[in-house]
Amino acid sequence: MSSNQSISNRDISVLWHPCTQMKDHETFPVIPIKKGQGIWLEDFDGNRYIDAISSWWVNLFGHGNPEINAALKDQLDTLEHVIFAGFTHEPAVKLAEKLVEVTPQGLNRCFYADNGSSAVEVALKMSFHYWRNLGQTQKTKFITLENSYHGETLGALAVGNVPLYKETYAPLLMDVITVPGPDCYHREPGESWTDYSTRRFMLMEQILQQHANTVCAVIIEPLVQCAGNMRMYDPVYLKLLRVACDKHNVHLIADEIAVGFGRTGTLFACEQAAISPDFMCLSKGLTGGYLPLSAVLTTDQVYRAFYADYQSLNAFLHSHSYTGNALACRAGLATLDIFQYRNIIEENRCLADSMTKAAARFSEHPHVAEVRQTGMILAIELVKNKHTREAYPWQERRGLKVYQYALSKGVLLRPLGNVIYFMPPYIVTEEELLLIAEVAWQGIQLAVKD
Ligand SMILES: *Cc1c(COP(=O)(O)O)cnc(C)c1O
Repeated sequence: MSSNQSISNRDISVLWHPCTQMKDHETFPVIPIKKGQGIWLEDFDGNRYIDAISSWWVNLFGHGNPEINAALKDQLDTLEHVIFAGFTHEPAVKLAEKLVEVTPQGLNRCFYADNGSSAVEVALKMSFHYWRNLGQTQKTKFITLENSYHGETLGALAVGNVPLYKETYAPLLMDVITVPGPDCYHREPGESWTDYSTRRFMLMEQILQQHANTVCAVIIEPLVQCAGNMRMYDPVYLKLLRVACDKHNVHLIADEIAVGFGRTGTLFACEQAAISPDFMCLSKGLTGGYLPLSAVLTTDQVYRAFYADYQSLNAFLHSHSYTGNALACRAGLATLDIFQYRNIIEENRCLADSMTKAAARFSEHPHVAEVRQTGMILAIELVKNKHTREAYPWQERRGLKVYQYALSKGVLLRPLGNVIYFMPPYIVTEEELLLIAEVAWQGIQLAVKD
């Protein structure tokens, strides 16, 4: 009979896990999950955990979701995968039609890849290549925001700005222009999110004015910089950015990989600023957390710049072996169906309110500098000193203590440094939210003790 220990021992002798110092597993064994059901995960020793972070932000409607399961079983008996160059299939076509329909106006073309980082690579290459096809070969640079995250392949890493992931590889990465961000954690006391984000936009405007001629695109995570400690800003920034990008003839790439599909309270975060980007990158929730798939939505204008006789050599030749995987597309369709027939966006408004209530007392905690929330993302910023906002030294790994405590109480939280956040699947109940919050509270009490 398999137990947690027997599997974790085999695991650490052959496996290398993502985003992990493997030596940590000498002290904290990796947890083997046997089964997932709804919001619950169950290990081989029978312990259960609430998946309060949606398995790295991908799961929307629970593990073992009956609708998605049924769609996949049907697809499995029909077509699992086929080469996507020269061939196509119904799930890919239907999903593209749906994505064009539900994304902001003007995004009429869908290009598939198979994970978020690849979608970012596609958008960067497409933008650069668009300008090149138009004869604007001087456009070779990208503008990104401080504290941004766009994935970890080399191109995506280059346009990101989280030092923990980026610094080691700096010598390998293309140069980008990094602009101070609109992150409202840094606003002055009494200053509104709108005022702060508006004020910070001046820095972007200046950079665009200076460099637009050599810049292909600005890449941005709309409303929430998730991997950058769940930092948030006001939609006004996106509005201003859209206007400025148009004025300066620069593309706008919206990386909605984490915030898309209802996370921020609207189906896509860009909707809150009523803007359409030139490129929108989607992944994570796209398949409801079932299978790797990503999509880049773009405009007719971009598409047309590549559309020519073969001899022009203007085609976009980027490809991945699993582009448009049929099973993944089918999972995407089943996921979008659930959004439609259950009016999830409306339901999530109530859930987001419940989340606010469940976390109400955290802002009074002597080691919490801020509780912030955008839709179905709520983050709690732990600090050493509430008044000066002096952070705990990262070496103390206080967030890790919260993680371990929560696991012992049956809740999977995975703090980003000293930021504890809730990003549950949309099937979470009020009771489960209260439990998550209570466990987080106790975990924080433990973590701030010296
Ligand atoms: C997760 C993430 C990515 C990268 O996606 P992967 O599938 O992990 O490569 C890119 N951008 C954002 C905003 C993300 O949150």
